[in-house]
Amino acid sequence: MKVKTNYANTPAWREVNVKSRIPEPLKMLERMARNIWWAWNDEATEMFKELDPELWKAVGQNPVALLERLSYEKLEDLSADKATLKKINDVYSKFEAYMNEKPDASRPSVAYFCMEYGLTHVLKIYSGGLGILAGDYLKEASDSNVDMCGIGFLYRYGYFKQTLSMDGQQIANYEAQNFGSLPLERVVDAEGKPLVLDVPYLNYYVHACVWRVNVGRVPLYLLDTDNEMNSEFDRSITYQLYGGDWENRLKQEILLGIGGVLLLKKLGIKKDVYHCNEGHAALCNVQRLCDYVESGMTFDEALEVVRASSLYTVHTPVPAGHDYFDEGLFGKYMGGYPQRMGITWDELMDLGRINPGDHNERFCMSTFACNTCQEVNGVSWLHGKVSQEMFSGIWKGYFPEENHVGYVTNGVHFPTWCASEWKKLYNKYFDQNFLKDQSNPNIWEAIYNVPDEEIWKTRLALKNKLIDYIREQFRKNWLKNQGNPALIVSLLDKINPNALTIGFARRFATYKRAHLLFSDLDRLSKIVNNPDYPVQFLFAGKAHPHDGAGQGLIKRIIEISNRPEFLGKIIFLQDYDMKLARRLVSGVDIWMNTPTRPLEASGTSGEKALMNGVVNFSVLDGWWLEGYREGAGWALTEKRTYQNQEYQDQLDAATIYSLLETEILPLYYARNKKGYSEGWVRTIKNSIAQIAPHYTMKRQLDDYYAKFYGKEAERFHALEADNYAKVKALAAWKEEVAAKWDSIQVVSMDKCEELRQGNVESGKDYTITCVVDEKGLDDAVGIEMVVTYKNAEGKEYIYSVVPMELVKREGNLYTFKMEYSMSNAGSFKVAYRMYPKHVDLPHRQDFCYVRWFNE
Ligand SMILES: *Cc1c(COP(=O)(O)O)cnc(C)c1O
Repeated sequence: MKVKTNYANTPAWREVNVKSRIPEPLKMLERMARNIWWAWNDEATEMFKELDPELWKAVGQNPVALLERLSYEKLEDLSADKATLKKINDVYSKFEAYMNEKPDASRPSVAYFCMEYGLTHVLKIYSGGLGILAGDYLKEASDSNVDMCGIGFLYRYGYFKQTLSMDGQQIANYEAQNFGSLPLERVVDAEGKPLVLDVPYLNYYVHACVWRVNVGRVPLYLLDTDNEMNSEFDRSITYQLYGGDWENRLKQEILLGIGGVLLLKKLGIKKDVYHCNEGHAALCNVQRLCDYVESGMTFDEALEVVRASSLYTVHTPVPAGHDYFDEGLFGKYMGGYPQRMGITWDELMDLGRINPGDHNERFCMSTFACNTCQEVNGVSWLHGKVSQEMFSGIWKGYFPEENHVGYVTNGVHFPTWCASEWKKLYNKYFDQNFLKDQSNPNIWEAIYNVPDEEIWKTRLALKNKLIDYIREQFRKNWLKNQGNPALIVSLLDKINPNALTIGFARRFATYKRAHLLFSDLDRLSKIVNNPDYPVQFLFAGKAHPHDGAGQGLIKRIIEISNRPEFLGKIIFLQDYDMKLARRLVSGVDIWMNTPTRPLEASGTSGEKALMNGVVNFSVLDGWWLEGYREGAGWALTEKRTYQNQEYQDQLDAATIYSLLETEILPLYYARNKKGYSEGWVRTIKNSIAQIAPHYTMKRQLDDYYAKFYGKEAERFHALEADNYAKVKALAAWKEEVAAKWDSIQVVSMDKCEELRQGNVESGKDYTITCVVDEKGLDDAVGIEMVVTYKNAEGKEYIYSVVPMELVKREGNLYTFKMEYSMSNAGSFKVAYRMYPKHVDLPHRQDFCYVRWFNE
């Protein structure tokens, strides 16, 4: 036989997936790894770490990846080790006991929609404050055992990892996440096949895979379009957080809102309240409207039901922060929906416009959310006020301070952000029931019983931990970047664990004014180089890759930090994420925040600092305006002295320097014989006792229930009872009022002559009567007198709103009467206002018809 030069067939490859076969006793580990309960239970993370501390580091502290990488032999060794097994058993029984509790059915159930979730640094599906807040919220929902689920995205690339070149240039690296090694599970259908969600776009479907993160007892469902069923254009919908163009953003928001509701339907999940955390998810109400209309309701009825069961939380204080879509682009994707909802295209567009009918106005997601959610809230008291103003154009006829926009001040999840050293201390001195009742200030009072030295030592231990970490990181990065070795040695030498350490870390948006400290470099140099009072500053934060100014700020700080006089005194740490945040907020002495007021809607990092005995020194904006107490931290005044921002910045910087020089540093270095500052410890204790209990995530969750969920769920159920009887009645009533509104007539108005002339005396009673022809409506309008005044800046405010009393009814004629006396002298404006009234309206802006009249 002729020998060929080459003779082989092709192999028939068979795919073999090697899953790590975990010895029986360690199955529990697998189950715990797939529930990020470990992210806020230190014992659990400690347990994973101890399995193989080196590997734990190498896999970035990810338990799923850890178990995957542990060899079979190693696992067998571990399962033969009694101490390890006992530890695992102990943690597992805690986990089991936690998981076996059933949700509290007495509180309304909630579906929570958000673009990002910061649950652990391992899951890169967050960029900053909004995500951390949402992640903390779900964790607290689990701890508080409420019936909630979250909806979001599983991003292939997530937000970027930040590296910095030697000259301070930010480099954004997007690393693909390998979903198989993350602490999540694929959602499967009844046959065990991966569940696929079909979401309509244009004239085709986008197919999303569905994943579930087990957040303790709360499921978080994540959609992911990066699969072969989709075209290249659609696979990228869930690539990046806040990346891509406006078209991609719209496609994301369709997936989140519309896809989110479709997913809940597919999973058979129904909730009492639908919570849009930021406007990104507002399109969930488009799908919900379609569903109700397609089940036989009119659009107006559907809107009643949808509105009654939804809440919109806004997180930005400026209109530029909202999403706006051009009509053309919006129409390209949303053109098919009006027909399904039983309205016209213009009517849909108008739901997203401040001025309905203005064709130049783009579709604004926030306006749409305001128009389709019964309740709206900002995220701090001040931000609530700012939001009332920001949205006032939507509810014409009312003054900003009259509209229903409320607030819930953001909080932080205690078990996530409190260092284990402090948890141990609290355990020792606080009431047994502390965690369950963590927003009760009485419990926190016990901090005054802790010996000063114990507090000082705990602080010092955490500070040393942070400094060790910085040294290690710096050495590593510096080597990688091929930096000047002399400089690094000198820098590492100069970092001083005994120096007062001030932390500043957050997104590098310009309004956060990270540059403020550097307004006067000579003065700053004197402060940091004072041998008696050494002080050092740690900076960290990412700038959005499109934000040139933010990146410029980072570069400037790094340049300054490399100057000889600031070397080792001003340090920039790269890649701010949850892991670094945890170290910083527990390791520094002071947490500083210097935003331009009122642009910090709430801010939360300073709240994390509180529970770690770190003292705040910040502008009185966002949460700190409410939180600040004298003797418990430092504040930069909220008064704006200059209109010119540059002057204001200079003044604020001068205030920072002078507070440091005259108060903060002397206090910190006033050491007693035992080597610590009694005044400083007192400040820490005050901050923990008087401020911390008010900023826990438990308080925030309870506030949402008390202010919004409870009220909405109750009204929603009343409306839907008896086959939506009240909905039908209310919608019909609104239609009738709307139809007759313009014909309602003020027949006569009887005021005394002085009032007519505009000359009245304070303290004197005046009588006003008014007769209204309601044109067949049945007691459908209310009348009130509105008195306004102008403040020093010339802005008009409500002085009082006085209802007129209905005193007589004759056919269609209703007589209203009031007696009024002015308690103050001065210059006021008076007018009368007619509005529709009905017991089933939740508030005036729900049916925002207003007619002003005066004669
Ligand atoms: C807490 C946190 C934030 C938000 O902090 P702010 O004070 O609201 O700016 C942002 N990023 C990370 C990583 C955080 O941990």
